Amino acid sequence: MAATMEATMMLTTAAAAGGAALAMTAIVALRYLLASGGFALATARVRPGLYGGLGRQIRGEIGWSLLSAVIYGIPAGLVAWGWQTYGWTRIYAEWDAWPLWYLPVSLLLYLFAHDTWFYWTHRLMHRPRWFRLAHAVHHASRPPTAWAAMSFHPIEALTGAVVIPVLVLLIPVHVAVLGVVLTIMTVMGVTNHMGWELFPHGLVHSRLGGWLITASHHHRHHELYSCNYGLYFRVWDRLCGTDRGLSQP
Ligand SMILES: [Zn+2]
Ligand SMILES: [Zn+2]
Repeated sequence: MAATMEATMMLTTAAAAGGAALAMTAIVALRYLLASGGFALATARVRPGLYGGLGRQIRGEIGWSLLSAVIYGIPAGLVAWGWQTYGWTRIYAEWDAWPLWYLPVSLLLYLFAHDTWFYWTHRLMHRPRWFRLAHAVHHASRPPTAWAAMSFHPIEALTGAVVIPVLVLLIPVHVAVLGVVLTIMTVMGVTNHMGWELFPHGLVHSRLGGWLITASHHHRHHELYSCNYGLYFRVWDRLCGTDRGLSQP
């Protein structure tokens, strides 16, 4: 009897965890379709014809991206379920749990940690073996489009998918700040690939812009390959001598 109850409880737990993984996959896929679709529509207005003749490439980008959505959705769903059910994670919802100054600090911590992980795994992905095995998928977009935001081979998607789920276990973050992190991640992922600069010339070419990554910087990575590896900031590229400046997408 006790064994049956235990088995039922385990099944219920597995079903709940599986349901959360499935739900998160749907959310990530929908977020991708809305964000990439939205900026693709904007591209058609701002730069008519920019994606002309790229239909086949775009279908590939969407296919790889939807596969990545599953790989991103599973760990994110499991961690979200663990947070709700068992209080795993250091996500907090009360505004006074940490001082207010910690809100922007935690935002920068998350962005910088993600950027650091991305820079070094991205450099690894450009080693010939890893490039052939995984990263070639991302660079098959020539030139990338708004749909290439999550166009990664599953191996590379896995290296990206673990970042935020691991960070929320380690670094305290308000749930709203986490929302900002995910929004920045989504918007920059799309806009850095869409083939034109969204941000004002005055910002991109300012002193602050010299430390930030937008389309002008990442587009050059897709043109020249072995430079401009960063995600949000140019800190690692500049420190390691891999920054080759901006292109004019
Ligand atoms: Zn890229
Ligand atoms: Zn690359």
